[in-house]
Amino acid sequence: MSPSFPPIQTLPFSGYSVVNQWKKWLLCGQFIGIIFRRVMKTKRTKIKSLLDSPEIGAEINVKGWVRTKRGNKFLNFIALNDGSSINSLQIVVDLEKFSEELMKDVTTGACLSVNGKVAKSQGAGQSVEIQASEIKVLGVADPEAYPLQPKKHSFEFLREIAHLRPRTNTFGAVFRIRHAMAFAVHKFFNDKGFYYWHSPIITGSDAEGAGEMFRVTTLDPANTPKNEDGSIDYRQDFFETESNLTVSGQLEGELGALALSDIYTFGPTFRAENSNTSRHLAEFWMIEPEMAFYDLEDNMDLAEEFLKYLVQYALDHCAEDLTFLEKRLIDEEKNKPAVERSEMTLTEKLRFVAENDFERLTYTEAIDILRNSKPNKKGKFQFPIDGWGADLQSEHERYLVEKHFKKPVILIDYPKEIKSFYMRVNEDGKTVGAMDVLFPGVGEIVGGSQREERLDVLLAKMDEMNIPKDEMDWFLDTRRFGTAPHSGFGLGFERLIIFVTGMSNIRDVIPFPRSAGSMY
Ligand code: ATP
Ligand code: MN
Repeated sequence: MSPSFPPIQTLPFSGYSVVNQWKKWLLCGQFIGIIFRRVMKTKRTKIKSLLDSPEIGAEINVKGWVRTKRGNKFLNFIALNDGSSINSLQIVVDLEKFSEELMKDVTTGACLSVNGKVAKSQGAGQSVEIQASEIKVLGVADPEAYPLQPKKHSFEFLREIAHLRPRTNTFGAVFRIRHAMAFAVHKFFNDKGFYYWHSPIITGSDAEGAGEMFRVTTLDPANTPKNEDGSIDYRQDFFETESNLTVSGQLEGELGALALSDIYTFGPTFRAENSNTSRHLAEFWMIEPEMAFYDLEDNMDLAEEFLKYLVQYALDHCAEDLTFLEKRLIDEEKNKPAVERSEMTLTEKLRFVAENDFERLTYTEAIDILRNSKPNKKGKFQFPIDGWGADLQSEHERYLVEKHFKKPVILIDYPKEIKSFYMRVNEDGKTVGAMDVLFPGVGEIVGGSQREERLDVLLAKMDEMNIPKDEMDWFLDTRRFGTAPHSGFGLGFERLIIFVTGMSNIRDVIPFPRSAGSMY
């Protein structure tokens, strides 16, 4: 006979239920603990939300870093900043209530947690202040060693302490605006029904960036496996083929557009170009929309609408930071000779771009203007313009934008020899449907084109320009199977930020700039 076990249902009445009871009590205890701590601890208020809607008389907690401390024997005034806003919060400290010991640690750069009451401020420069009742120093900053003292530091100096410069007013403003612009990029495209498409960052194709690419490898540089002819045997490398960091997400973006209609990429881009200018980085971010069924004119319309949208977004959402940067620029301009001073303030410039049409003209028309321009005739250009066919240098682009038209310019129909293989050949057989958008103070901000969708024309062009066709088979398949007219462009994100913030060096609009010869 088999032994008889109690039926399963009776189990909860035995040992299990005791365990369950314990669990309940434990959970209950934890819950009470959480409530208790919540009640005892005042929730932190961000300085921005406090300044936006202050509640006079409220007891609050704020946390942040000391910008300055000043005062007299009886009172100290601390400017506390938590990065949520360009504005610091004034903390009033009655020295009778706080020990000298504690106040000694309240120095520029130190991190504080402050409890106190919100009060109307008597002093100039702020509407509210906090009357401190409790101050905790969360982190000291030895004044002998802390490099960010409350005085004007040069951008060159601050680049050397890139890890600390976000704590300055200028860089705080720049990086908050950078965030707002990134958000606006996604909003613009999402609202238009574009899909965010992730082109790869590691690529096997080097069709675009021959010579300017960063190699990705796990081979030991001191001991690379060799082919019989002495060249490196990449079949033994990680991907079993040569691989690089991307110089553009476009080619893979085209695959997305020819399936989803409208896509955009927004990702890091790498170019090992040795141009040590204030407009080039080795690691930068690029936004590349790609649209099926768009011709060059649709492409220009989208680029213009997009740039105006971003600039307007900054005006609408970053007013305080822009005002701060504008004042900084006005101060800086005072040191310049009158002729070099700009005619418009930063926000005037932004408004001008948001509200006026861009000038559109062909490369050929631009060459005519440049050839007959004063600086060309007087030999002022470093690269004189004498004929059709030369690539435009930034001095030429800036002349057109800043001196001749005094507004953004879209140049189209460039000679095919100076542009990429994938740009669509125009009927004249000499030019391609390229478009560059040129901005004041920046030069080229956008580069784009209508793409060559005709397989035979594209193949001939690749032969002409020595582009390896076998490696590009995946790309050519889009032209073999259901090809479609399409267009796209690339916006350099940092160049946009240069324009919007009025900063003059691209190294000062990205948290950690990487360029030839330097890694901050
Ligand atoms: P440039 O002539 O200024 O070097 P490009 O012709 O190489 O530009 P594209 O290949 O068309 O530029 O890239 C699209 C956009 O990416 C440019 O319009 C620019 O805004 C940005 N860009 C290009 N190179 C860099 C770089 N090294 N650093 C930052 N942004 C860049
Ligand atoms: Mn370039």
